[in-house]
Amino acid sequence: MNLNTKGLLPEHMEHRGKLTLKENLKIVENILEQRKIPEVGIDEEHIKLLLRLLSFMDTDKDPNVIQIGEREARVYTKLQRDSVFDFCHGVGRSGNLTDPQPKAPGASAMYKLTNKILESFLKFLGLKVNAIATPVATGMSLALCLSASRKKYGSNVVIYPYASHKSPIKATSFIGMRMRLVETVLEGHIVKVDVGEIEDAIKREIKDKNNPVVLSTLTFFPPRKSDDVVEISKICEDYNIPHIINGAYAIQNFYYIDKLKKALKYRVDAIVSSSDKNLFTPIGGGIIYTKDESFLKEISLTYPGRASSNPVVNILISLLAIGSRNYISLMKEQKTCKKLLDDLLEDLAGKKGEILLQVENPISSCITTKKDPLDVAGKLYNLRITGPRGVRKNDHFGTCYLKEYPYNYIVVNSAIGVKKEDIYMVVEKLSSVL
Ligand SMILES: *Cc1c(COP(=O)(O)O)cnc(C)c1O
Repeated sequence: MNLNTKGLLPEHMEHRGKLTLKENLKIVENILEQRKIPEVGIDEEHIKLLLRLLSFMDTDKDPNVIQIGEREARVYTKLQRDSVFDFCHGVGRSGNLTDPQPKAPGASAMYKLTNKILESFLKFLGLKVNAIATPVATGMSLALCLSASRKKYGSNVVIYPYASHKSPIKATSFIGMRMRLVETVLEGHIVKVDVGEIEDAIKREIKDKNNPVVLSTLTFFPPRKSDDVVEISKICEDYNIPHIINGAYAIQNFYYIDKLKKALKYRVDAIVSSSDKNLFTPIGGGIIYTKDESFLKEISLTYPGRASSNPVVNILISLLAIGSRNYISLMKEQKTCKKLLDDLLEDLAGKKGEILLQVENPISSCITTKKDPLDVAGKLYNLRITGPRGVRKNDHFGTCYLKEYPYNYIVVNSAIGVKKEDIYMVVEKLSSVL
């Protein structure tokens, strides 16, 4: 940038001023130079400057442009432009989400940069994968993966170890595939799906001349245990079956990351995580990652049309603003809070004659209740606590168990971003209503 300040101020001051300016611009230049998550987060003003400069590259910012297309990013208010950080042309081309958009060189560079920084972040956490930020949340991102699996492998049935989240179930019906549920079993307090049953389901579908794809779940509420994604990956490799993992909030805890790392040695076609649950963005974005670069490309090809740049920019902002060092301390805090939660719930359970359910889970805990759990959750809501889930033992959807679960219970979460004060408060309130 050539800023001519000559003669506007004394020369030694001009040098001093230019030096400061240069240092500030250097911060922005470094982001584009390194294309990695910064160790220490970058402040908002520099992020804003980066976004401003990139969005100035889009053709709708050309002061002399002549616009005669039917879609020229004509936006009525600044309020609307602000909502997409001035990347009014969005991202992607109609045929491929990740292709550069000729009308939007800046947004195209921004998207590519986001994906590179995202990859560096996942690599930093130990996952050597290719990744894309998606402009849709987890459920729709899973739908993209399933659609790519159908396109590439002719998949026509989704084998789903039963986990009661509506997003993956609707993702399957949305793309019009049949779902074959694999039922859960009870083992102590744990609700889980036997890997052998998944293998049987695969065998049966193959015998019937179908092409199954397995959709496993890594992150879930207790008492439903995580699917054994490592064993499932091995089986999928043996049978040459595509395997998609729903890891909605997997990135925030090494318990999950280690499982993904191991699973990635075998058959994993794609892993989906939520941008809001892991990266502190508003809801609306997803992250898809895999070692299989060509499958990732297939996924980006299934997305119909262009997309809003907003979810992608939000992911970029989070990665730049948080930085790898702070993300690690947030992960540590999450872990400490989970330990605190378990200790306090154990104590509370002792006092109330309840049980802290013994289910291995790095984020969520479960305490039984003799009261109506829906009533307990309702009272907590009125006490201005959001998040706890009350589940009745005969709620087959809630428990993920088709027979009667032995207890009514309340699920409490200690997810990334939670603070010790929150944990103390929720257990105190829980104590008053349990
Ligand atoms: C949060 C979550 C989803 C979420 O889906 P969205 O489409 O992002 O709302 C899906 N599956 C599981 C297991 C989740 O925890």
